[in-house]
This record gives sequence, C-alpha cells and structure tokens, in this order.
Amino acid sequence: MPANKKTSVISNEKIDDLKLTKANKIILGLQQELPKYINKGHGPFLAAIYDSDGNLIAKAANSVANKSCSHNHAEMNAIKLAEKKLGTYDLSPYNLSIYVTSEPCMMCLGGIMWSGIKAVYYGVPSERVTKITGFDEGFKQNWFDEFKKRRITVYGQIETEAGEKVLKDYISHGHTIYKPGK
Ligand SMILES: [Zn+2]
Repeated sequence: MPANKKTSVISNEKIDDLKLTKANKIILGLQQELPKYINKGHGPFLAAIYDSDGNLIAKAANSVANKSCSHNHAEMNAIKLAEKKLGTYDLSPYNLSIYVTSEPCMMCLGGIMWSGIKAVYYGVPSERVTKITGFDEGFKQNWFDEFKKRRITVYGQIETEAGEKVLKDYISHGHTIYKPGK
C-alpha cells in the first residue's frame, strides 16, 4: 500500500495531499478534544463524520462504559447520529467521510461498510492501541484491500503521536479498560 515517507501515513489509494492535510487538521482537533470526553466518563475514542463540503454531520465519543452498551464505539455512535439526522440507513448518496482518533475495530469496520460511508481516516493503528491499552481490536485481515474493492478510501496512521499520548494518559489515569471476562 502507498505510504508517505515523511509521516508514515498509509492508504489504499495514491496519497492525495489535499485529503491528507484536511485529515491531519481534523484528527489533531479530535485528539485535542478527546480528554474533555474522557473526563466525562467516555472511552478514549472520538469519531466525526463530515460531508465533502466540510460540514460536520455527526460527532460522538465511545460510550461503552458510561452507557453500559458493548457496541457503543465512537464510530457506531457517530454513524447512528448521522443516519438519524439525515433520516436514512444508507449514507452513500451523501459522500461522507469518517475521521476517527484510532483505527476502527472489527465491529466498526462492519458498521462503516454497512453505512455507505465513502472514506475512513484514522489516527493510532490497532497494534499500538492494543499495546498501549490492552483493548482487543479484533482480527481484520486485508481490510484496506477489502474496503478498496467496495470503493471505500482509507488513510491511516494520521497524527499518531498526539493520539498515542491521549491513550497513554487514559491508562495512567486509571480509566476503565472494558472487555468481556475470560
Ligand atoms: Zn469499534
């Protein structure tokens, strides 16, 4: 997959500098905003959905622990809000992009695929999320290629330094690592 040497950003298309510049700005903004959500009891992940004109359609943080629901990941919450706002289960005519502070887990990849969202931009890759936090992000073989087949663009590893810092702070403050027992 194409990689940008300067930033370690990876994609399933030839990297478009305009898209990347926009994504850097949005994801850095989400990372800066995320501690505010964590302090209110949310999990350490934030997602925002934008249309192609740059209008914010929906934004949501992870609410697994504070709302007692295992599928309340940031991406799922944001998709649910966008669909409610637009009054449809099929977002594909709206040409939407989702920006997430960390790589989507296996459930959220499914949720994104079913929603009709056209592009995914994420910060911290799953292997780093798992290493830092202990969350199990699931098995996601070849998902960049699978999304490409479905005409969904993916850019990953955007502003990872800022993202890793938020996750490390989440752990050092002793916040919940929610997962099913063994
Ligand atoms: Zn998820």
